[in-house]
Amino acid sequence: MLFDDSPASSLTGIARLAARSSVLEAKSQVRYFEIETRSVLNRTRLGMPFRWTINPYRGCEFACKYCYARYTHEFMGIEDVALFEDQIYAKSNLAPILRQELRKTDPREAIAIGTATDPYQPAERRFRRTRSVLEVFASGYGRRISITTKSDLVTRDVELLTKIAAANSLSVNITITTLDRDLARLLEPRAPRPDLRLRAVRTLADAGIRVGVFPNPILPLITDSERRLDLLARAARDSGASHFGGGLLFLMPAARRVFFPFLAERFPHLLKRYEDRYTRNAYLRGEYAESIVARVRSIRVRHGLDNGPLEHIPAGFEPEQPALFEIR
Ligand code: SF4
Repeated sequence: MLFDDSPASSLTGIARLAARSSVLEAKSQVRYFEIETRSVLNRTRLGMPFRWTINPYRGCEFACKYCYARYTHEFMGIEDVALFEDQIYAKSNLAPILRQELRKTDPREAIAIGTATDPYQPAERRFRRTRSVLEVFASGYGRRISITTKSDLVTRDVELLTKIAAANSLSVNITITTLDRDLARLLEPRAPRPDLRLRAVRTLADAGIRVGVFPNPILPLITDSERRLDLLARAARDSGASHFGGGLLFLMPAARRVFFPFLAERFPHLLKRYEDRYTRNAYLRGEYAESIVARVRSIRVRHGLDNGPLEHIPAGFEPEQPALFEIR
């Protein structure tokens, strides 16, 4: 057993909850746990495009080599960054806690679902924690909600999403780093194929849901070429996306511990360049970074796509009178 029922007395906070978690299921590689939920809405720092985030899971089975969120397992006292993708925690009891929290929050503040783990990773098929969150939003109105995912499983909830969109401002962002299946398999070994994600864009757009494509993260010298990004934006537009926007890879120390060995194995000719640029700073700045921003902007304009989802005010409430969230 990786965990037993008696947490070490030295553990506190989320690490203590993680140690208490009971196994939901174990596949050959991946183990699922249930973790007690203390709060559903997490406040972001100022300057972010959303005020609150919701992540129904901890850890993410998609196992992207560049994943920025691996450090979040460290909060639970798990230092092996590889376990981020093999030890998945489904949060318990989300809906009642979320209802309580929403009563105390300003409905004008934007809520982003899926910022640190994918809300439609394989665990969702069984444990439906993201769906339980969406059901809360479907029972209210006047919220600003976005969902970001790499998974076509989002289309399972198309009816629910349509219901939410009718009474809230909702946008869905599908992340597609590349259309190249083989490259995607290397970079995101357990995520759905790019063509399945594009098909999800089409399904959502056809249902009248505002959907965009994010080529995030743009990987220097791997996915950053004009040609690759242009093909992706064109495919996004042709699938009904309304917006397209992306940012460059950033690499925190926990992410570097996985990404650099991956480069050494698969892109050895790039390793030194990445090490030189990312070892001291997680973010790239300067001429190259600016050129990528300009490239994405010009591609977006070329294909008639927006920078982000346009604010959609559903019928039934006035924008100057912020609606109150109401649980029916
Ligand atoms: S889908 Fe997102 S959270 Fe999941 S492994 Fe990939 S980058 Fe990390």
